Amino acid sequence: MGTRTIERGSAQGAATPQGQELFGQIGNFLLAHRLTPDPRNYQIAYEAIANPSGVVGREVAALTDGGVRLAAEDVARLGGVATKGDGKAQEQALLNRALSQVEGFAHTVEIAAAEANNFGRDLMKSAETMRDVGPHAGVAEIERLTGAMIERVQRAEQKLEHARRETDELRSALEEARGSARTDPLTELGNRRAFDDAFSALSPDDRVTVVICDVDHFKRVNDHYGHAVGDRVLRTVARTLEEECKGLATRYGGEEFAVLYTDTDDALAKERIDAVRENLASRRFRVRETDQPLGVISFSAGLVTGLVGEGRASLMARADAALYRAKGEGRGRTIIAP
Ligand code: GH3
Ligand code: MG
Ligand code: MG
Repeated sequence: MGTRTIERGSAQGAATPQGQELFGQIGNFLLAHRLTPDPRNYQIAYEAIANPSGVVGREVAALTDGGVRLAAEDVARLGGVATKGDGKAQEQALLNRALSQVEGFAHTVEIAAAEANNFGRDLMKSAETMRDVGPHAGVAEIERLTGAMIERVQRAEQKLEHARRETDELRSALEEARGSARTDPLTELGNRRAFDDAFSALSPDDRVTVVICDVDHFKRVNDHYGHAVGDRVLRTVARTLEEECKGLATRYGGEEFAVLYTDTDDALAKERIDAVRENLASRRFRVRETDQPLGVISFSAGLVTGLVGEGRASLMARADAALYRAKGEGRGRTIIAP
């Protein structure tokens, strides 16, 4: 009985004069823009009217300035804004689109450059043949024309090369803005560049510990279960490292991960890395599709502590030598560089 009263009460609440006015405005908005009253359009209309200073409200105001009707693609885009909520998501979507357009353009330039190059080579061959034929009537003229064409093709090649360089630069700038330049797409950890940048940001007197972790017998995982399962294993190792290592975990390349510590010594860093290994060893991984057990995923690690001033290359080489020893001494362990 009580519940019923509340239900009726709230229904009446929605039908206040203000509610009715909003409902009417939403209806008018949908009619004016010839939008069907489906939930997405309704949501956009609601956001635009109820919160005119919000992201959607401002977007709609800008788009409909001067009474212009909203186009279908505007609505689709606004839908994205309405659900994703902020400018950051929009910025990312824009960067993604720009990047894929640049990539498309780069591909076109590459093809055009290759075609120009082939054409240029053909022309040069023809010119040589003509020279071999000797002084026949009209040949001199054809030779002159061919020469002019070769020159034009070479100019086109130069311009295309210039365009290619510019697209490369634009692509890097966009990747940079999107943050993908320092992110490994498979594991979503930072990549080698992220590691190198973090290292370079330190001062020469800073003490660091660098650990290189290399998955043991990883080739076997690929060989036995396929590359896709191998990828999943890499993602698992990456996530475990990121969550457990208490340092900066990056994917340094292939099945190698580099960890950077600025707050440890040899012993503490070793403890942390060994904890990551134990965490992995305690879990029973199976291939999702077939339920086959994967066995223990383990890695070997080489660890070095030193001053940043020693240089990244030298520290990495020492960590790598320690890693090599860890592999040689039976894998699944951490060796500290002398
Ligand atoms: P070890 O214990 O001596 O390190 O043996 P390993 O098999 O792990 O080392 P090896 O260097 O022989 O093989 C590494 C393999 O890692 C070979 C390569 O195909 C694979 N790999 C590298 N990157 C990827 C990747 O992104 N995905 C997958 N699935 N495999 C990768
Ligand atoms: Mg390796
Ligand atoms: Mg390996």
